[in-house]
Amino acid sequence: MNAAEFDYVVVGAGSSGAAVAARLGEASDRTTCVIEAGGPDTHPFIHIPSFVAAAIGREATNWRFKTVPQSGMAGREIPVPRGKVLGGSGAINGMVYFRGHPADYDDWADAGCTGWSYAEVLPYFTRTENNEDYPESVFHGVGGPINVKHVPNPNPLNYAFMDALASLQFPACPDFNGADPEGYGRRQGLIRDGQRESTAKNMLRPALARGNVHLQTDAYVVRVLIEGRRAAGVELVDGRVLRARREVILSAGTVQTPQILMLSGIGPAVHLKEIGIEVVLDAPGVGENYHDHVASPMHMETADCTSYGWSWRTVPRNLWCALQYALTREGPLAGNVFESVAFLRTDPSLGRPDVQFVFQPAKRLTHPKVPFPIGHGYAISPVALYPKSRGTVRLASPAPSAAPRIDRTCSSTPTTLSR
Ligand SMILES: Cc1cc2nc3c(=O)[nH]c(=O)nc-3n(C[C@H](O)[C@H](O)[C@H](O)COP(=O)(O)OP(=O)(O)OC[C@H]3O[C@@H](n4cnc5c(N)ncnc54)[C@H](O)[C@@H]3O)c2cc1C
Repeated sequence: MNAAEFDYVVVGAGSSGAAVAARLGEASDRTTCVIEAGGPDTHPFIHIPSFVAAAIGREATNWRFKTVPQSGMAGREIPVPRGKVLGGSGAINGMVYFRGHPADYDDWADAGCTGWSYAEVLPYFTRTENNEDYPESVFHGVGGPINVKHVPNPNPLNYAFMDALASLQFPACPDFNGADPEGYGRRQGLIRDGQRESTAKNMLRPALARGNVHLQTDAYVVRVLIEGRRAAGVELVDGRVLRARREVILSAGTVQTPQILMLSGIGPAVHLKEIGIEVVLDAPGVGENYHDHVASPMHMETADCTSYGWSWRTVPRNLWCALQYALTREGPLAGNVFESVAFLRTDPSLGRPDVQFVFQPAKRLTHPKVPFPIGHGYAISPVALYPKSRGTVRLASPAPSAAPRIDRTCSSTPTTLSR
């Protein structure tokens, strides 16, 4: 069977793969093929920002991984959502536009990560952005491919949340990606003209139109083909082979990039032997150091119907919102629900905030097929920003279709900021 051949083969058309493929495609004399296991990003839950929870809940667009039972969390298996669709997790995520704290990047540089200080990464952030709200700010850019804006007219409950924080003497933060991201305020979202923004939409799609970048969806990569010490291409689950004249780029996300490497024989030799995979390269770091931010939402129901949600009392309001969105792409349906937030220090002696409180003026979804909450309420989710627990991604079986074994080791180590 003749293998298709390209200069570059990019695995995974998520947030990073779509951007990488688009950038590679700027060289008009080179060809790139980006391969995505999920389907096209056509479902309306992906595009209508307020249906974000429904997009996450949709089985067809979420790999729905779970951790192994977590001893630090009473044996629970913690859900690990990951986008399974063109756009990847960027097609189902909360659309919230946050960078790390400036000091986080400086820590990386101090730890030996040359080129990653805040001053060095800032130009890349500003270059990617078209920020509608801070056009004059040195921390933001205009004219970049990704549109960023505040949700206009947030739900009134956001102001109750922010007033409560003000009454406790916490500071207001005018820009969470500015000089001092601490306090409470409104969050910006990756939204354009009332629709979700993603690198797949605004970077990859224009690149595909140029003709030298190709996309295959519903194409699951099972391994990288190694010839000698070179990644020469990839094999798909249906047996097809795509060859790369120059490079194979793995951008299948935090969980599946190590999975593909291990299925290709690149990973910790002891583990690969246990699973029965021939070792091509003993790379002990593959699948190590897995960590994620832990959030524990507290949900409240309200008797009044100020929050987003569906109830008999709000039928006229919701019908009006649907009409407004259909006609103008504006109104509550054009927002991503997560409209305000607070970044706070649990101890004033810390040098930067170590906890985020996410405010959500809506109840959680109760039925996977109903894209809006039934009834009214709100949620506050504390998020530990600097988890110290470190886990692993391992293969559960040599079968490429088997979900990887994710052990987050949640809460195995107390989480505090060390400085
Ligand atoms: C529910 C959720 C909410 C989030 N909210 C926010 C937020 O509000 N703001 C924010 O900044 N970040 C958020 N994030 C995080 C952010 O979305 C991710 O960090 C980012 O999208 C990761 O990009 P990536 O390219 O590494 O992986 P992904 O975007 O996940 O892309 C990986 C792609 O690879 C594909 N793939 C995997 N295995 C294979 C294979 N074997 N063959 C072919 N293709 C494969 C997947 O289908 C997927 O499309 C959220 C994430 C999730 C899951």
